[in-house]
Amino acid sequence: MKYVSRKLLIGIIIDLVLLAVILLVAFFVQAEEIETDCEQGSTGDCYEKCIAITFDDGPHGKDTERLLDELKKRDIKATFFLIGENIEQSDYNKELVKRMHEEGHLIGNHTYSHINIKSVGCDKALSEVSRTNEIIQDITGEKVVYIRPPYGLYDEKFLDNISMVPVLWTIDPDDWDTTNVSRIVKNVVDNAGNRGIILLHDCYDSSVTAAVEIIDQLTKRGYHFVTADQIILD
Ligand SMILES: [Zn+2]
Repeated sequence: MKYVSRKLLIGIIIDLVLLAVILLVAFFVQAEEIETDCEQGSTGDCYEKCIAITFDDGPHGKDTERLLDELKKRDIKATFFLIGENIEQSDYNKELVKRMHEEGHLIGNHTYSHINIKSVGCDKALSEVSRTNEIIQDITGEKVVYIRPPYGLYDEKFLDNISMVPVLWTIDPDDWDTTNVSRIVKNVVDNAGNRGIILLHDCYDSSVTAAVEIIDQLTKRGYHFVTADQIILD
């Protein structure tokens, strides 16, 4: 009986060692796969230093165009929350929206005339949002899924009426309130962290200059820029 128990015990120990070896091998194989994905620039890997840069209140003519040029040079994908009436303002702005889509940026809704959704009433809010969705969809051919409510204000009742995903932010340098580029850059870089969402506005020259500097500094620090949907859905 004593002999059988010892044999059984040795058997269990061998099984446990084998199991540990299998688990270790599986772990390293998985780690290797993740690393490979990262080199390919996919998004599933960016679990360490992943950040999204988002721009509200555009499109805004030359400022937006300069931003798109700089993003393209660096192969950075951003997220734009557009105002419907700004898109309709000119064919030039409509072309910018087309370009955003073609160059792989994520486009979301920022209402038609930058309303406070909470204060205008549900009907007005719904019409502003659906009108803007139609304008964007006419240009890109794609359904608009994401919305950034102006001022970050909305209520759950409103959300129940639209099948869209709200996107807020985690880093806000109040770029609309200053033309001091270094102050905007410092605020964002100091507050940057994994899965952060940076809020900027592509309707100011200083914000576009700051955005480029922010991208360059954070890239040097090892950040991967992804579109906001990848932060939210990951
Ligand atoms: Zn706004």
